[in-house]
Amino acid sequence: MESKLQVKGDNVSMLRTFWRTNAFMLLFLVALYNFKLFIQYFSSFSIASVMTHVRSEDLLSTGLLFDLSQFVFLVIFFHLLWSLVITISCKPWFSIIKHEGIKTQVWLVIVLLHFTLVLAANAYFYPTSLLGFLRNTPMATVAGLLMISVAVLLQFLWSIYSQFGKKVTLTALFSVALLISLLGYRPEPVYTADNNSPNVFIIGIDGLRPDHLNYIDSANNHSPNIDEFISHSTVYTNTYTPLGRTYVAWMSILSGLYPKNHGARFNLAPPELINKEFPLVRELNKKNYQTIYAMDERRFNQIDEAYGFDEIIGPKVGAADAIISGMADFPLINLLSNIPGSSELFPYLNMNRGYGKAYSPNQFNQKVLSKLSSDKPNFLSIHFCQLHWPYTSKDFIDINSAQWKGNYNHFMYQAMLKKVDQQFSDFISSLEQRGYLDNAIVYLISDHGEGFMLKKDEIHNPSIDVNDTLHTNAWGHGTNVMSQDQTNVLMSYRRFNKNVKGLPNIQQIQGNFSLIDIAPSLFEELNLSLSASDTPFDGLSLQQSANLEAERAIFVESSVPFRSINASFIDEKEVIYETASNYEVRDNGRAVIIPSVYKEMVAKKQRAVYFKHWQLAMLPNYEELVLIDTQKQLWYQLSQYKGSAPWRGMLFDLCRHYQHDLGFDQHQHCRQSGIIDDSTSSPSVRHLSYGRQYDIQ
Ligand SMILES: [Zn+2]
Repeated sequence: MESKLQVKGDNVSMLRTFWRTNAFMLLFLVALYNFKLFIQYFSSFSIASVMTHVRSEDLLSTGLLFDLSQFVFLVIFFHLLWSLVITISCKPWFSIIKHEGIKTQVWLVIVLLHFTLVLAANAYFYPTSLLGFLRNTPMATVAGLLMISVAVLLQFLWSIYSQFGKKVTLTALFSVALLISLLGYRPEPVYTADNNSPNVFIIGIDGLRPDHLNYIDSANNHSPNIDEFISHSTVYTNTYTPLGRTYVAWMSILSGLYPKNHGARFNLAPPELINKEFPLVRELNKKNYQTIYAMDERRFNQIDEAYGFDEIIGPKVGAADAIISGMADFPLINLLSNIPGSSELFPYLNMNRGYGKAYSPNQFNQKVLSKLSSDKPNFLSIHFCQLHWPYTSKDFIDINSAQWKGNYNHFMYQAMLKKVDQQFSDFISSLEQRGYLDNAIVYLISDHGEGFMLKKDEIHNPSIDVNDTLHTNAWGHGTNVMSQDQTNVLMSYRRFNKNVKGLPNIQQIQGNFSLIDIAPSLFEELNLSLSASDTPFDGLSLQQSANLEAERAIFVESSVPFRSINASFIDEKEVIYETASNYEVRDNGRAVIIPSVYKEMVAKKQRAVYFKHWQLAMLPNYEELVLIDTQKQLWYQLSQYKGSAPWRGMLFDLCRHYQHDLGFDQHQHCRQSGIIDDSTSSPSVRHLSYGRQYDIQ
């Protein structure tokens, strides 16, 4: 009877310890959360701004609800599990000690030991975490972590041993060791496929501005590895992105079409309006290629299996991304976000560069490499996003790699360029070591540039003194077609062949090119053909670049220009406020532009055409056509322009390209400029109809 009571008393005490641990942990998390708020400049931005702009009806989206609940459930589950481990660790002490006060002290010591271990590990592995305050202390070193881990582990093992005996403890230890080694086992496959079909790699670097590379300006040394790669490539000097937004640019790269023809006019375009079939991917699948699309930030990029790829690598796509990654920086979550299995448990955190403080460039590289086929040819499109706002990284930046000139964004951009350069270099070296470059075609590109309001990017008007009537310069990308630094991109090509000795030299091809030229070039090089139902390519094959007409028009359009982007510093809250009402969250948890708003947004686009070194831009909120001399960095109102620029032909091309676009030509330039309807004349005569009024409500 007495022993029964004793056991019961013990159980109650352990249960109480468990809940007491949970309560203490909750207190600990609240303290950490408040600490984060205290030191973070954009304290409430990530959570509150996003939350307040998720409209109440969006919370009914089952996908979003599921994603958020899964995250919350797992966070609670792992913290309860942790409490359980702490409680179990206390057990043998409690059976020795009878004094309640001392029991509590032992419990407190064990709890604090655990908290210290997790905080120190977080500081060691994720030094830029807001809660990495133990960085640079002896605890956050290999020796310190080993010592605390051993103490914590021994405590736990002793408890298991005293509870279940030697056999169970050893079996458990052995199983855990086996599990860890199995999960960590990554065979390095060597590529052994036949050499007739080359591997094809399109490697994108988000926001990389060509003028920050060495081949444009030899004073640049932000990216030695990328520069080295380019120094053995063919570079297409004047390459433009059809639209400076990641998803749209990639749609154009893979389809060889302008946005008007593939249907994706904005990053979060409604999927039902988009032509998702890429003939390139389809034909390569037919030729037994392993087709992969990999990207380390998919917040604004919806390309997934529905676009024909065998495999998609990267974080999950969904509206929950911004909410979860905005509040996830807690020690235990950071530590769990990169362990084996975390891509299933925390799909919004693992490999997500948007969750910058815990993003591991190496892990993303390894994951992609592990998915390449070793016995089939590979077609891999991979996009590295470290160079994208908000410029955070797991490790601290090397401040000497960038020049501080009072422009925070530009400073961080230069520093992050060094990091993405390292990631690119590691990736290329691994491809080479594993034999994937023995016979391979590599395109290294950027999807858009980035506007930093730099002095050197300014474009002036020689006849208008006060240059405030028109913003030709802007922050960000895709926000202003006149901002050349947003639209100019890198496009380089390199052919790897192990049978050819010696490295090729850089070859710079002059002329105007666009990212839409890649797909038709691959078609030509790999002897693929479009089927009758495919839309013909808008792009031209780069193999013909020597013969390409110098007289080629290239089209560029903007996303929606926001007022808040033109401010001297991007106010994220403003941007969200201005744009959030344009989005809805679908049942699958993805945010998309509301279809009715989509049409209004298309009408607000700026549209432009490039021809030689000229650009002609049509802006919905500016009555004049704008002509830009990109070489002299000068702009003119077309009505005042007296020079010999070939603007008539450019206007014709612009009008023809966008003629059926919603809201195009609101100021009727196509009609006034003398391009008048004459449907009876032959197509060679440059006469077309633009008399139609567009309804843009
Ligand atoms: Zn991008």
